[in-house]
Amino acid sequence: MTAARSLTTIAELADAGLVPEAKRADAAAVAERYAVAVTPALVGLIDADDPSDPIARQFVPDAAELVTLPEERADPIGDLAHSPVEGIVHRYPDRVLLKAVHVCPVYCRFCFRREMVGPEGLGTLSAKALDAAIAYIAERPEIWEVILTGGDPLVLSPRRLQAIMERLGAIAHVKIVRFHTRVPVVDPARIDAALIDALKASGKTTYIALHANHPREFTADACAAIARIVDAGMVMISQTVLLKGVNDDADVLAALMRTFVENRVKPYYLHHPDLALGTAHFRLTLAEGRALVESLRGRVSGLCQPAYILDIPGGHGKVRADSMAVEAADDGCFRLRDFRGDMHAYPPKVD
Ligand code: SF4
Repeated sequence: MTAARSLTTIAELADAGLVPEAKRADAAAVAERYAVAVTPALVGLIDADDPSDPIARQFVPDAAELVTLPEERADPIGDLAHSPVEGIVHRYPDRVLLKAVHVCPVYCRFCFRREMVGPEGLGTLSAKALDAAIAYIAERPEIWEVILTGGDPLVLSPRRLQAIMERLGAIAHVKIVRFHTRVPVVDPARIDAALIDALKASGKTTYIALHANHPREFTADACAAIARIVDAGMVMISQTVLLKGVNDDADVLAALMRTFVENRVKPYYLHHPDLALGTAHFRLTLAEGRALVESLRGRVSGLCQPAYILDIPGGHGKVRADSMAVEAADDGCFRLRDFRGDMHAYPPKVD
């Protein structure tokens, strides 16, 4: 079925046939804890008769989210430890995250920022906080790239987005503006002429990183939305989270990466799932992830190969999960070398 608007309560999901009666109480308990939203485009994609449907698994609350493990964290990649002013995360010298909004069109059940996003999350930056965030960028000539994320920055109105872009456009040392978004696949109608104009309003080279996890997300409407962005002169790259029960299969991953390329989206990041609270049911081991990624080599074109990335828990940055910077340890765990050369246990030791 399709819905006229996003479903944001368990009652609405149940009415749409997406939460069976027997699971309703647990789903309601999850919804008390974490935000819920499923857009009409996704409701129309879910096969309600398939208990293993990979689209439903990403967006419909599940009792497994009520289980948290000792190694899981509220801020798994350490955003808050690297936030010098509200709305900015400055982890690496030449780039910052600008988190203007903490709302998303959908709420992914595996989200690594699930403690920050949603109606109860960190909200939208006030005008004063946005001024301070833009000033922080303007005062630091080493900042070459600004990455708008959140939340999903494409939920902002074209008018607000355009205002932010024009301010970034006035900062000479910022050369690249990058957006991280799920909107082209989960709410493709939003990609209209006004939004595209706003995305380009900085006059900088603009990259759009599209988050998609399963080839079925590429509906005809989604592909058309992606084409509108690329035809407007923006470069698109991908990000995918490796998720048990969604895409932990070589055939699905290969099809997904080919679908990105066929739609002019260059595969960029394949993320190992983070240690977000209540997400253990999505996590593969690092050894399982490495074996899957290895199986892509030779199987699909080099154009279709993403970088397999692990965000080192605690805010130590990213590491290539299939590189020499990851060493297997005798205890079955791994040791990760961050970009500064410091070593970290993975999974991290729990006191
Ligand atoms: S769109 Fe991104 S930030 Fe929003 S819930 Fe999904 S993973 Fe989290």
